[in-house]
Amino acid sequence: MSQVRVRFAPSPTGFFHIGSARTALFNWLYARHTGGKFVLRIEDTDKERNSEAFLNVILESMRWLGMDWDEGPGVGGDHGPYFQSQRTDLYRAKLRELAEKGRAYEKDGAWWLRLEGARSPAHDEHLKRDYEKVASPPMVLDDLVRGRVERAEDRDFVIFRSNGEPVFHFVNVVDDVEMRITHVIRGEDHLSNTSKHVELFRAFGVEPPRYAHIPLILKSDGPGKMSKRDRGALIEEYQRRRYLPEAVRNYLCLLGWTPADGQEVLPIGEIIRQFDLKDVHQSNARFDERKMAHVNALTLRGLPPQAFAALAATTLAEAGVTQAGRDDTLLADVLPIAQEKVVSLEHLPEFLGFFFREDFARDPAAAANLAKKGGDPVARVKEALPCLESCEWTEPALEAAFAAAGAASGRKPTDYFAPVRFAVSGQGGGPHLLSVLRVFGRDRALSRLRAYAS
Ligand code: GLU
Repeated sequence: MSQVRVRFAPSPTGFFHIGSARTALFNWLYARHTGGKFVLRIEDTDKERNSEAFLNVILESMRWLGMDWDEGPGVGGDHGPYFQSQRTDLYRAKLRELAEKGRAYEKDGAWWLRLEGARSPAHDEHLKRDYEKVASPPMVLDDLVRGRVERAEDRDFVIFRSNGEPVFHFVNVVDDVEMRITHVIRGEDHLSNTSKHVELFRAFGVEPPRYAHIPLILKSDGPGKMSKRDRGALIEEYQRRRYLPEAVRNYLCLLGWTPADGQEVLPIGEIIRQFDLKDVHQSNARFDERKMAHVNALTLRGLPPQAFAALAATTLAEAGVTQAGRDDTLLADVLPIAQEKVVSLEHLPEFLGFFFREDFARDPAAAANLAKKGGDPVARVKEALPCLESCEWTEPALEAAFAAAGAASGRKPTDYFAPVRFAVSGQGGGPHLLSVLRVFGRDRALSRLRAYAS
């Protein structure tokens, strides 16, 4: 087969949301999997609803997610321009082509596509027939995801409105013809348009592309389709919340596709190797923000330590937690113990802030949790203090000190962990406690423990 050419064809009429990003991604993956081309085409014919700002969000989000395009805005290519608003002359010429073939006719100021079902009636004859009701033979679509789909158009349809503007179906197909698109991968909401599109391809005398209609994404709660207004729907939000772009991309892959061995967090090269349209699910996918967060956490933990350190250092500096120069040494000790436990970069300032400032906040939820457990955290810290004070400041020695405190009081050594952690950090969780104490340093740790116990 000739080289695969796919396209992502967004309309810049709103923010870039999960559904659009997933459609773009499946196209990109298929292009990369097959060694084909990924075209970005901007469907900006709706002058009133398009905006430059939305266009920029799309381009930036795609770049952020690492979905590079081979042809399109900023890149060029042999089939441009890649903005529909710049292709008006082409659309007029293609309308003339259909009119000359007798496949388009004018009525009530609009231009209509004459369906194939009424093949070659004489020109005046077709004006007499009821243009609205013509039976077209049902067409069988062999959708790469949906399988066999039967559809029939039963009436001619408008391709150019009376105001002189071409309709979506027309420009979409003209561009797919001109851009030599071989596979149309798009949301299932477009399945109902496909028979019109196939009619148009045939009217141009061009073999239609292969179609792959990918499943809808349902909102996390309830039966409806995810909309731009739903929580967590916008890609920008994850960018702002410092999710790793590769984690967001990895999660999006799972919305309608499953890697072969069930291993869900995997490098993009491996996803590209495995991804194929025949494995895309028919059933709807459900958006799950918690799973996205989990994929992000696993990806963060899997980063090379230096990459994690660079990202974490930037996050902490931007949040005003650390200052270059002042905190570099401590930071170098803190970050390695944070990586295995932190769930998102967004949480780092809260997670590690206590290392760098004395006026750290105490998490009320952690305090409530300690209270709920029934014990007296201040009393526990008091009990543990003598053992810690006489201890060498290494992790094994600290562990032994907790054991000694337990032996003296008849408690489990771990009964001291949460109170001591809370005394030092104000948190209910965080890096491994023994590591926290070691990195924190003997004098600082003991002084916080004494202050808490007094
Ligand atoms: N501009 C259309 C959309 O945003 C493109 C549909 C298609 O991919 O054919 O949904």
